[in-house]
Amino acid sequence: MALRLPPPDESVLARREEIVAALRGMLPADAVISEAEALRPYECDGLSAYRQPPMVVVLPETTQQISALLRWCHSQGVKVVPRGSGTSLSGGALPLADAVLLGLARLNRILDISYVDRLAVVQPGVTNLAITQAVEPEGFYYAPDPSSQIVCSIGGNVAENSGGVHCLKYGLTTNNVLAIELVMMDGEILRLGGRQLDPAGLDLLGIVVGSEGLLGVVTEVTVRILAKPESARVALVGFPSIESAGQCVADVIASGIIPAGMEMMDKKAVQAAEAFVHVGYPLHVEALLIIEVDGPDAECGELIEKIAGIASTNGAVTLRIAANETERRAFWAGRKAAFPAVGRLAPDYYCMDGTIPRRRLPDVLRRIAELSARYGLGVANVFHAGDGNLHPLILYDANQPGQLELAEAFGSDILRLCVEAGGVLTGEHGVGVEKRDLMPVMFSETDLAHQQRLKCAFDPELLLNPGKVFPVLHRCAELGRMHIHRGEVSFPELPRF
Ligand SMILES: Cc1cc2nc3c(=O)[nH]c(=O)nc-3n(C[C@H](O)[C@H](O)[C@H](O)COP(=O)(O)OP(=O)(O)OC[C@H]3O[C@@H](n4cnc5c(N)ncnc54)[C@H](O)[C@@H]3O)c2cc1C
Repeated sequence: MALRLPPPDESVLARREEIVAALRGMLPADAVISEAEALRPYECDGLSAYRQPPMVVVLPETTQQISALLRWCHSQGVKVVPRGSGTSLSGGALPLADAVLLGLARLNRILDISYVDRLAVVQPGVTNLAITQAVEPEGFYYAPDPSSQIVCSIGGNVAENSGGVHCLKYGLTTNNVLAIELVMMDGEILRLGGRQLDPAGLDLLGIVVGSEGLLGVVTEVTVRILAKPESARVALVGFPSIESAGQCVADVIASGIIPAGMEMMDKKAVQAAEAFVHVGYPLHVEALLIIEVDGPDAECGELIEKIAGIASTNGAVTLRIAANETERRAFWAGRKAAFPAVGRLAPDYYCMDGTIPRRRLPDVLRRIAELSARYGLGVANVFHAGDGNLHPLILYDANQPGQLELAEAFGSDILRLCVEAGGVLTGEHGVGVEKRDLMPVMFSETDLAHQQRLKCAFDPELLLNPGKVFPVLHRCAELGRMHIHRGEVSFPELPRF
């Protein structure tokens, strides 16, 4: 799967010096980066196999500065790629050679906290974890908890509709955002949603959350904050087979219990995590479930007993219930360190992200194992079992010629398998450039054309983050007509790194 991006506009590249000078006129001196060496840290995001230095990086500090620079770029036909902390695993923040990379990191203030309304108003560059840290002293927290939460920005979370361990019970980003301020490509400033629960009008907020920086630049986010539960109990349950663990997941949900988190790791991932953090994970099991319940203390005790019963009916071979908070944190430490732990098994790993109906877990995991044998590449599975959100980590060595291509082909087959099983191409990492060319596996041409009509309603000149999400970009003027192919923007191939 070679990467293709829109061809750079030579007329824009020829005006680079003029564009940089104009941006310098709009922003503080240290907010425009144009020297080749200083651009290098921005040349990729978390999908580091692909790199492209941007034309120029800007780091504004206010909504008004963003509005002015977008308005100017719009008037000049200059493309813009928004970037939060650059941790996207799907290449959503990958720069373009002829585009301005708009970094949001300097908009990093918490503007308001209301415990009465149970919300916090923050700028987009605030990290996910910083929100919880700000409200923790009053016994509150922000529920969506991506593993990257120490560094990823809330603006990036909104753009990717990010998830985490606790989203099974508390929902994804979209369920925890009340309002946003959005700057359109032409510089207009919109406010979507509100401090109340049910804003009037069409749900434009719902459209923008998860739109991967294609519709507008998020400059303010109002999030829900929740009161910390009185108690949390966690069980660590080992199974002799993936099938029995998968059945346990299905049975827990079918019993009416919604755990705060229900994560699964296969044998390879368990062994890697244990070697990394030494928290006492059982090494002989084929699958390990970490199941957490939260709420009033008495209720947690009852629920964890019920879960233990369901696990035992499904043939669990080990069961440990954390005796205290230190042990609870230790149980989670292995799961949270699973990615870096798996990173020690091979020089490189490629993290996939697909979602399937829960009941298909055993079947899909078996077929992933078959693909692993066919491609000759190892795979470790660590995933949000309760949501059916898989994260197979494909092990490879980028220094071995052809292995990256093999890993990508393996990854594509996994995502096709997810769709075939009734699932979707992505759970929480977005489409970006990584899964863009697989979109037709899931959507018909008509589906995609209608999705792009939304893009055209927000950004008719296709200047905002082009080359992401849509496998073919139709010119908006052509999209309303019958023969849309006449207006395609083709994407030539770019080299891989
Ligand atoms: C080790 C690791 C673990 C991870 N674990 C998880 C996980 O558990 N769950 C999960 O969901 N993700 C996870 N991710 C992926 C990533 O952290 C999330 O997608 C995150 O939301 C990206 O935030 P960011 O600030 O880094 O955004 P970036 O990577 O900078 O950008 C991501 C996308 O958002 C757009 N964007 C960024 N800011 C804005 C804005 N203000 N307005 C409009 N568009 C914007 C960009 O154009 C791009 O398309 C993980 C990544 C890593 C590296």
